[in-house]
Amino acid sequence: MNRRQFLRNAAVAAAGASLVRPSLSYASVLTGPAKKVVILGAGMAGLVAGYELAVLGHDVTIIEARMRPGGRVHTLHEPFSDGLYAEAGAARIPDDHDLTLKYVKLFEVPLEPMYPSALSALRFDGGDRREVPIDGFTDALGGHFGFELGGNPSRWRKIKGGTDMLPKAIARRLAEKIQYGSPVVKIEQDARSATTTYLHAGSSQKIVADRLLCTIPFSVLRNIEMDGISDRKIDVIKRARYDAVCRVYLQTRNRYWERKGLNGFAFTRSGIEIWHPTWSQLGPRGILMTYVRPGEAERITNLKETERVSSTLTQLDEIFPGLRTNFEGASSKCWLDDEWSRGAWSFVGFKDFGTAIGVEGGRIHFAGEHLSQWSSWMQGAISSGLRAVKEIDEAQN
Ligand SMILES: Cc1cc2nc3c(=O)[nH]c(=O)nc-3n(C[C@H](O)[C@H](O)[C@H](O)COP(=O)(O)OP(=O)(O)OC[C@H]3O[C@@H](n4cnc5c(N)ncnc54)[C@H](O)[C@@H]3O)c2cc1C
Repeated sequence: MNRRQFLRNAAVAAAGASLVRPSLSYASVLTGPAKKVVILGAGMAGLVAGYELAVLGHDVTIIEARMRPGGRVHTLHEPFSDGLYAEAGAARIPDDHDLTLKYVKLFEVPLEPMYPSALSALRFDGGDRREVPIDGFTDALGGHFGFELGGNPSRWRKIKGGTDMLPKAIARRLAEKIQYGSPVVKIEQDARSATTTYLHAGSSQKIVADRLLCTIPFSVLRNIEMDGISDRKIDVIKRARYDAVCRVYLQTRNRYWERKGLNGFAFTRSGIEIWHPTWSQLGPRGILMTYVRPGEAERITNLKETERVSSTLTQLDEIFPGLRTNFEGASSKCWLDDEWSRGAWSFVGFKDFGTAIGVEGGRIHFAGEHLSQWSSWMQGAISSGLRAVKEIDEAQN
């Protein structure tokens, strides 16, 4: 057994049997030496990178500000009744997102169709209100946002039980390697190591590593102290623009729209999607929700919660008359308000940002949906995380 094989066997044994699996997504052996790696953020990028690095035999610690894994993958169960749930962030998985689907399969998370095939959706084109089959809804999305969101409805699936079952499953495997409730306040590097300062239970702590992987959104990172990072990178971090997105959820005591032949999906004149996320969950209650993009989402973000709800109630009662009589309760999620996201998504692109091991050198690596060609998708977060795994694994120190 050579030194590399010995190190790998020892490291995998130390990582625990639960991390060993028959088919590895990235590689099955260490390329460079085993390293101490600190990952900032337990969203999809950080979790997948942490999982793959740990399987390879690196010593991984994940530092997360929130008390839960998943970041922008978050399924809302509160304040809904009867176990109903709806997504605050990621919901749809298209059939060509091979990386997302790979981890869905690896972690044995169940999928189901995203859209109902029964009953009619609503479309508002010009002055017309039209009842259409569900492919009329995905056609409208494709026409408005581009093919990325359109196509045959059957190419779209969702995770049965809520999208955050995926990050939760990965986090369970990493278990004690994740430290929650630990907002990072400073990152720095020199020629030998990278250091993270974070707060935990009211005190300031430091952790030193061979390599640091930062998956914190740039909208949050720009307010964290950074030392040893090039002016060019800092400039990109500061200038990255994050989109506003809002969702408002209205719970009803029954699904009265179904009795009128409607499935609860609609696309409005101003490009707002309306979903009935509970169509595949047991009734009798239901949730109708809006999905509002930049342009209108900034206005909603600036409203008080009660105003968000009352204006959405008025809007949806016109589309699905009877809502006001059947309305039971509501909540909303506006991503600009989220302390650890400060926006829904951004496109920075990895080529423009540059690699940690390129001309600049450095021990701080970066990943996250914003640094991928699939920004605003879980697929982007995962692909950037895997790219960082390769960088870190191949580094010689
Ligand atoms: C409204 C919305 C709808 C979406 N719809 C879809 C969809 O249908 N399908 C799809 O595939 N994708 C969708 N996405 C995109 C997908 O959710 C994201 O691309 C992906 O989850 C981003 O993962 P990430 O790891 O890059 O970032 P994040 O999930 O943001 O992870 C970063 C982590 O860093 C943590 N953090 C932040 N600051 C600190 C700090 N100071 N210290 C420590 N930790 C910190 C955060 O808490 C977070 O856990 C949607 C996103 C949104 C917002």
